[in-house]
Amino acid sequence: MEIDSTQDATNGRMPTVEAGQPVDDDEDLDHIFDDMDEDETSAPAHNPWRPVHAPLDVHNVNLSDYGGDNSLKLKLFYRHFFPMKQYIDWLNYDTVSDSKLSASDIKLSKTFMNREFCFTLMDDTYIRFQSYKTVDEFRQELTRLNPAKIDLGAIYNIRPRDKASVHASAFKPMSKELVFDVDMTDYDDIRTCCSGGDVCMKCWEFMTVAMKIVDSALKDDFGFKNLLWVYSGRRGVHCWVGDERARQLNNEQRKAIVAYLDVTKGGERQGKTVKLPNNLHPSVRRSYEIIDEHFKNIVFNSQDILRDPTHWEKILTLIPDETVQQTARVEWEADPDREPSDKWEDLRGFVRKAIATPSKRNLLEHVLRDIMFQYTYPRLDEKVSTNINHLLKSPFCVHPKTGRVCVPIEIENCEKFDPTEAPTTETLINELNQYDTDHPGSNLQDWEKTSLASYVKVFEAFVKGNVKSIRSTKQAKAEPTLEF
Ligand SMILES: [Zn+2]
Repeated sequence: MEIDSTQDATNGRMPTVEAGQPVDDDEDLDHIFDDMDEDETSAPAHNPWRPVHAPLDVHNVNLSDYGGDNSLKLKLFYRHFFPMKQYIDWLNYDTVSDSKLSASDIKLSKTFMNREFCFTLMDDTYIRFQSYKTVDEFRQELTRLNPAKIDLGAIYNIRPRDKASVHASAFKPMSKELVFDVDMTDYDDIRTCCSGGDVCMKCWEFMTVAMKIVDSALKDDFGFKNLLWVYSGRRGVHCWVGDERARQLNNEQRKAIVAYLDVTKGGERQGKTVKLPNNLHPSVRRSYEIIDEHFKNIVFNSQDILRDPTHWEKILTLIPDETVQQTARVEWEADPDREPSDKWEDLRGFVRKAIATPSKRNLLEHVLRDIMFQYTYPRLDEKVSTNINHLLKSPFCVHPKTGRVCVPIEIENCEKFDPTEAPTTETLINELNQYDTDHPGSNLQDWEKTSLASYVKVFEAFVKGNVKSIRSTKQAKAEPTLEF
């Protein structure tokens, strides 16, 4: 369930728990982990990042014995696979910690300590305004609560847990990553392969186009360098812009960036037709090239939009000319099996003929280009981006419905990312078991022994980029402010 950050914890839609209040745990499962706390002190000193609670019996856990019990999976995930060091380095922002340091020796930065964490538990309880002063405190909380979802909020002027100690107006969000959220449900009016929470590689191409367009606009037009794309675990993607400059943006500046990206001006939503200027701005032209690369495959092959009258009518209604509409209709009804890409070429011909009449030129000249934008230009969930204290699901959560880990997506290879292949806790446990059978005595961390390793590498590169960005900002103190 989406949480609106403007809601206070006391009037949220779900019951809330105050900081530090005990949360019911699953008693039946707890005995499995009784031994783990004893392992805390026996973790080998040469690998300080081994999980605090390292249940040696992870290899003997048979998940099928627990049916669909997600709480066990979450317990195993946070203890064995959550990349804690990289995660702390990310949210610390100013340094990449020495991998030989033990967790307890890593100091948290003010950026980390003043960050709002919001945890959603298995029973849908959510706990807002959590914050941590030490790594141990954070780790213990994570492995105690085993949240079904971690949302990250803003970095405040004081620690979020202390917010009750000051007047409401004195508790202020100071910074946060610039974030974007693209969800497949916003494409449901044109998606024909799946609906609701389902995705497949056919409709996933909408996300690929969205990632490519937003990524290149943020980098080429705004000069941002450190972007992390993350699979939302079900049917969408999130983008985190970690550059210092992006984190300092106020709400007005965030709105300006979103408005800049919203070239279709909300027209993609049903009922409104996209009408772009005749001469495209260079950045929109760049988006058009990306759209052009994918449009035919998505719309004709994957979504089969011009295959039958129900779908081709949706396209025809976007053409503001009765003659073109009627000509196409008659032609296609006479030969409905004509290939969709040929039907598109038919349309191109009918439009060309129509614009020979000067009065129709302005209205129709770029109508097919605008339809391409209407169908494939990214549909952003604006409110996520424009409000500094809006919550967004953290990378490396496990989606409770799909069981899939919210893994980073390498933008250079985003076309190859297959959401249905993203790792789940089960696949990670199997991979871990297989690795340990093949390599007894290995001292790698558990996630390193699994397919999660390649995703953590993508994350590490992002984290290092952020540190570099902070150093260069410090060097060039007189950096000019963003202009829009
Ligand atoms: Zn699909």
